[in-house]
Amino acid sequence: MATVGDGPVSESVCVSCGECVDRCPVGALSAKDEAQPIREVKTTCIYCGVGCGLELGIRGGCIVRIRGEKDHVVNKGSLCVKGRFGLDFVGADDRLTHPLIKRNGTFEEATWEEAMALAAEKLGTIKAASGPDAIAGLSSAKCSNEENFLFQKMVRAGIGTNNVDHCARLCHASTVAGLARAFGSGAMTNSIDELEHADCILVTGSNTTEAHPVIALRIKAAVTRHGARLIVADPRRIDLVRFAVLHLRQRSGTDVALFNAMMSVILEEGLCDEEFIASRTEGFEEMKAGLESCRPESAARITGVPEDLIREAARSYATAKRASIVYSMGITQHTTGTDNVLALANLAMLTGNVGKESTGVNPLRGQNNVQGACDLGALPNVYPGYQKVDDDEVRRKFEKAWDVSPLPSSPGLTVVEIMHAAAEGAIKGLCIMGENPMLSDPNVNHVRDALSNLDFLCVQDIFLSETAQLADVVLPAASFAEKDGTFTNTERRVQRIRKALTPPGEARPDWEIIFDLASRLGLNMQYSDPSEIMDEIASVTPIYGGISFDRIEDRGLQWPCPDKTHPGTRFLHGGEFKRGKGRFHATPFREAAEVPDKEYPYILTTGRYLEHFHTGTLSRRTAGLEKLSPPAPFEIHPEDAAREGIGDGDQVEVASRRGRVCARAVLTERSPRGTIFMPFHFREAAANVLTNDALDPVAKIPELKVCAVRLGKA
Ligand code: SF4
Repeated sequence: MATVGDGPVSESVCVSCGECVDRCPVGALSAKDEAQPIREVKTTCIYCGVGCGLELGIRGGCIVRIRGEKDHVVNKGSLCVKGRFGLDFVGADDRLTHPLIKRNGTFEEATWEEAMALAAEKLGTIKAASGPDAIAGLSSAKCSNEENFLFQKMVRAGIGTNNVDHCARLCHASTVAGLARAFGSGAMTNSIDELEHADCILVTGSNTTEAHPVIALRIKAAVTRHGARLIVADPRRIDLVRFAVLHLRQRSGTDVALFNAMMSVILEEGLCDEEFIASRTEGFEEMKAGLESCRPESAARITGVPEDLIREAARSYATAKRASIVYSMGITQHTTGTDNVLALANLAMLTGNVGKESTGVNPLRGQNNVQGACDLGALPNVYPGYQKVDDDEVRRKFEKAWDVSPLPSSPGLTVVEIMHAAAEGAIKGLCIMGENPMLSDPNVNHVRDALSNLDFLCVQDIFLSETAQLADVVLPAASFAEKDGTFTNTERRVQRIRKALTPPGEARPDWEIIFDLASRLGLNMQYSDPSEIMDEIASVTPIYGGISFDRIEDRGLQWPCPDKTHPGTRFLHGGEFKRGKGRFHATPFREAAEVPDKEYPYILTTGRYLEHFHTGTLSRRTAGLEKLSPPAPFEIHPEDAAREGIGDGDQVEVASRRGRVCARAVLTERSPRGTIFMPFHFREAAANVLTNDALDPVAKIPELKVCAVRLGKA
């Protein structure tokens, strides 16, 4: 047990975050391999959407020490193990250093001129022969706001298609769709530090301790220091359960039934906020009528959560003065993802818990800049600032600003639709910036077929990822520590990243690569550095209207920030909702696309481990993280394992209708009986070989969190 003073890590089991090193009053502790830096550069963490402030200690062209920025508004000096110890990838030997062109199936080093000329020529040929909609682009939640802005501008104005999307489609597309419908804005309503002062926090579908560790510290502080009641609604016994008064273990994919039943109890017991409903919302009666079939008795049968726990959770949430909902991909990655989000929005509005401090509906965004990539229009239906591509007036504004006419008027294809279209031959050319769909997308055997079927694939990345290996042209990019720009964290805070090192070899920042390619595609652009791109963003994006590099030098700004004197916005929907009145939606329960049957009797669900991130491309290049969290386990309930004759540590095979994967069995009661859990970080046993690419009909997000599998000894 590590307890360090009265800091935020007290009462926590050791999670290797290294905070004890920072706080050791006598300097007796030091991190292994740390050296005294010659200079320090302030920047923002590259891993998750919390957006912690880092101080990179630099010496001899290397990062020799990482500290959390003490007075940073988000992390106040805290970091998790990835942020503090997980940046070895920056100096890794296998960084891409030269452009590569594939000739006769083998990569050969090329000059920038050769690679860029080839990329421009191939894209031009496809456009001339098959039209601009035969090309698509995948932008990146790892890259900066400025790079995402330029990427979507290149695809829309340089190529002439709205076929641009990125991995938000796979994590929070249902948040963007659901919260925009309910509130008018698809972002976290409140701020991270407000969580500490909530009276009740409902955490659902978020293993916060592992996926957003520094936010988990705030939640734990709310409980231990301020007496907040924590309700965890999650099939798995996640770490936060230790701090919770209630743990509701709903069967995976039955979230809507659970939330509807809680609302039914709130209505039955007169615990709703009638004044808020009457003055601030619309659609209440239709939503209420839809709840008549959602009694807690029937929800108990559907979800497996005992009726009395459903009632207790409803009362606990509804009677709190300030109740906050925190959720993540356990809610969004379903074919019912949009309904799940709408149901949570209903719950918040029903009790008046939105539009004020320490309340709200708070999606925790996964990647460091997935919020920014969405904000800056790396989506097929909206320009930067969620301005619709099929709105004539908006389109005219962008045509004028970019001096290009006409811009395409119909929404483009989403990530999974792009892969289907590539497999069918409708998409022939694809540009990918810093994404790795060969590990991150569902049903990766299908993704491989789709990418292999393209006439031309161009990938810009810092490593030769599984996806880059399939490319015709690979362009070496600078890492976050080697360029200037901004990221927007999960609470809408736009923060600086700063160049601390020179990129290796001939690698270039992504914005320079896009600038070069877009210019060759005929787009007239002039930028000498990323601050000028941000100035253009501000000029066409009302929610970023007041943001510029000089204003965020010391402290980030939270959008909406409409003008240069605006202080930024701590919580949304204060006086009125972005859409005017908040809108209730009826959300009838639907089962997941694939439920267990005789042939595939188990549910597979996927998620993250603390020590690794996403496809492991960055975190797995730090030996210490790899040691703390060795590759690819299946977590299996001991009773399921006994039934299948499986022992702890055995190699097992898990098969779905799409593929099979072998990995090590870890017997644990963290997951309920009948549910197998697998992290998706490991290429040796890629969880997404198994997952289902069935889509939510509104948000087009795939059902990564539930599929049916069978289990046996390998
Ligand atoms: Fe980085 Fe997220 Fe960890 Fe903060 S919590 S250090 S942003 S990975």
